[in-house]
Amino acid sequence: MTPLAVQVVEWLRAAGRVTVLTGAGISTDSGIPDYRGPNGVWTRNPEAARMSTLQDYVADPEIRRRAWAARKVHPAWTAEPNDAHRALADLEKTGRLFALITQNIDELHQRAGSSRDTVIELHGTIHWVECLVCSVRTPMADELARVSDADPEPACTQCGGILKSATISFGQALDPDVLDAAARAAATCDLMVAIGSSLTVQPAAGLCRLAVDRGARLVVINAEPTPYDDIASAVLREPIGEILPALVGAVGEES
Ligand code: NAD
Repeated sequence: MTPLAVQVVEWLRAAGRVTVLTGAGISTDSGIPDYRGPNGVWTRNPEAARMSTLQDYVADPEIRRRAWAARKVHPAWTAEPNDAHRALADLEKTGRLFALITQNIDELHQRAGSSRDTVIELHGTIHWVECLVCSVRTPMADELARVSDADPEPACTQCGGILKSATISFGQALDPDVLDAAARAAATCDLMVAIGSSLTVQPAAGLCRLAVDRGARLVVINAEPTPYDDIASAVLREPIGEILPALVGAVGEES
């Protein structure tokens, strides 16, 4: 372990309240590509971003058909949690981690053993579908079963409205209660660890600034530079699947 990583272990040991913010980079080892990394979905196909933009999704039936076709084969259906997800579940067991804010929509943190009370899903979940008109929620598996060549874009069975995964698209407001919970977790922690995020999506990324402004130390774990590296006390560039289990394992060795 590098001297900087050893320092981070010391901070984790000393911390009373750790808040973690995760992004797509923690799930790439589970086979779910990120958006902006070297093999990211948008890096390879910038047009794919339109499927995640509310205005385009509502305005263009072709975008919706493509979105449903992409959902059918989404890697989240077969992905399993990896060692980094499990390390965060282990960190929670030490009593230090009190909030796990995730931008991810894959539910892999919960499946790895993080408690549902600790995980704050800032951008929703792909495992549920929501009607954009009447807000009724249905399991994604049920809606995917309705997708066919004859009906490539299922409509809401309650009101006929447009259905979308229960995720936050660009141009769509975050749930204010969820954002409040995340802001409180950032404002009241003594150590904030941002993992696997390009920290370019707001308001999620701004939680790092909020934590630092309220006196917390910030640690960034990400392969590529982020706009918040300058205010971080440490930036670790090692692969998340290796460094995170090593850090949490070393914290546990203390007790
Ligand atoms: P991003 O794609 O903008 O950034 C991911 C970052 O992780 C990149 O900087 C990349 O270099 C880094 N990274 C990837 N794999 C890594 C590894 N193994 N080790 C170290 N670093 C690694 O992702 P973001 O900041 O989370 O923003 C993307 C948005 O897209 C989020 O809002 C999220 O909701 C959504 N998204 C979610 C998933 C998912 O649920 N798994 C996947 C793709 C996108």
